[in-house]
Amino acid sequence: MDTNCIFCKIANGEIPSKTLYEDERFRVILDLGPATKGHALILPKGHYANLYELPEEVAGETMKLAKKMAAKMTERLKCEGFNLIQNNGDLAGQTVFHFHLHLIPRYQADGQKIGWKPMEVTQEELEEIKNEIVG
Ligand code: AMP
Ligand code: ZN
Repeated sequence: MDTNCIFCKIANGEIPSKTLYEDERFRVILDLGPATKGHALILPKGHYANLYELPEEVAGETMKLAKKMAAKMTERLKCEGFNLIQNNGDLAGQTVFHFHLHLIPRYQADGQKIGWKPMEVTQEELEEIKNEIVG
């Protein structure tokens, strides 16, 4: 645990939160600045700044928990879609540097748009990029 980290304090119960789920390794809380009704965050209790620092095992458990939470929230909130979002680094929009996975229920006309502007790319460019990553 990092004593200067607000999500460490929330995850470990030192700061109260609207908790949807808790076990030895995780706490799931409602986001204080929600994108939509029910926007929640999965917080591991251990301090990992981002995906790069997250142990593989915790990464796996996070996704299993996301699946369970998505099912429960969809049933209870009657949402019609669901986004999982996870930001790493300032440039990618991360503002709290304790790994968290956003659970965002989506509704008709919820007024949110989560997306990007697609670039144009050729097959040759895709081949170069592929080689850069895995070549
Ligand atoms: P990110 O931009 O991916 O780092 O997301 C940080 C999220 O944490 C934002 O959606 C904030 O609304 C949320 N947040 C920040 N502080 C708190 C807090 N004390 N309790 C609940 N959610 C928070
Ligand atoms: Zn932390």
